[in-house]
Amino acid sequence: MSDTIAPSSVQDNVRDVVIIGSGPAGYTAAIYAGRANLHPLVFEGFQKGGIAGGQLMTTTEVENFPGFPTGIMGPQLMMQMKEQASNCGAELVMEDVVAVDFSDRPFTIKSSSRSVQAHSVIIATGATAKRLHLPSETKYWNRGISACAVCDGAAPIFRGVELAVVGGGDTAVEEAIFLTKYGSKVHLLVRSDRLRASKVMQERIFKHPKITVHWHSLPVDVYGEEIVQGVKIRDAITNEERDLAVGGLFYAIGHTPNTELFTGQIELDPTGYIITKGKSTATNIEGVYACGDVQDHEYRQAITAAGTGCMAALEVERWLSK
Ligand code: FAD
Repeated sequence: MSDTIAPSSVQDNVRDVVIIGSGPAGYTAAIYAGRANLHPLVFEGFQKGGIAGGQLMTTTEVENFPGFPTGIMGPQLMMQMKEQASNCGAELVMEDVVAVDFSDRPFTIKSSSRSVQAHSVIIATGATAKRLHLPSETKYWNRGISACAVCDGAAPIFRGVELAVVGGGDTAVEEAIFLTKYGSKVHLLVRSDRLRASKVMQERIFKHPKITVHWHSLPVDVYGEEIVQGVKIRDAITNEERDLAVGGLFYAIGHTPNTELFTGQIELDPTGYIITKGKSTATNIEGVYACGDVQDHEYRQAITAAGTGCMAALEVERWLSK
């Protein structure tokens, strides 16, 4: 970075910081950047990589975000974060960013209606949980189908009933083990004849008295009255279909980080997540920071996203004042 960058008040058309994304990471970064008088411009998103407000807009009760002893509805939590960001001085625009240019400073960020220049950028575009797109998926989403066992496993509808997890990697195995705390039994549905999970995890699952692994098993739909009461499974070899009576189906088939926009601009890992340096949110481009699920394939929680959003804003503030 040049040591002689003029503050935004001098270079009126150049923003100090642009934030891309409006989940817990983006709004938290906006709250901190706003309070630091950086007048952040937030592209909240519209339809790329989810909706404005992020993944929690698609869920019901959030019971593990600190400060809400009886829980809070996901959309309400996000509306409150948005209001707080706005009150702290963030300018919010409900548009998708369609192109960025990080090859030159100031950076250029283009949305459907405008092109903006900025000294620094915080990327908070999140990740999208992969779905199976079962015929009845929309009807039963949040009514027995979930993409997050850690988030939803403790919900009353999953307690004491048999549950199913679909997937064959480490996440699927971890989620199956996690769900044994709540479900009476957990069925792991694996499409092939082997697990991709590590050997240690495999041993744990095979020994677990509450878990049954179903090989060559593909969920083709769910059924039930108001909530899920079972999964229809097809045998991948014989094509035979059968019903498995369970009160919940958890997807653990991976996430897609929303980084298509940044391909070729910043360093991504082989699965598309943004690589950040050490414990910081700095990317390989000086002045560009990444926070939340877009750089975290491990924790993927609202509170960790918010935590790294805070870190990104503080790092931007320090970097700008260097
Ligand atoms: P996201 O919430 O994914 O937000 C990303 C934002 O980026 C969105 O606003 C999107 O519109 C925007 N965006 C993407 N592309 C662009 C673009 N090109 N231009 C502009 N904007 C863009 N976690 C918990 O802690 N507790 C829970 O109970 C819980 N329940 C969950 C239930 C469900 C169904 C799901 C799917 C997730 C749940 N999670 C929960 C996980 C939690 O939602 C995520 O960890 C968290 O939302 C990640 O925050 P984020 O800010 O990184 O990204």
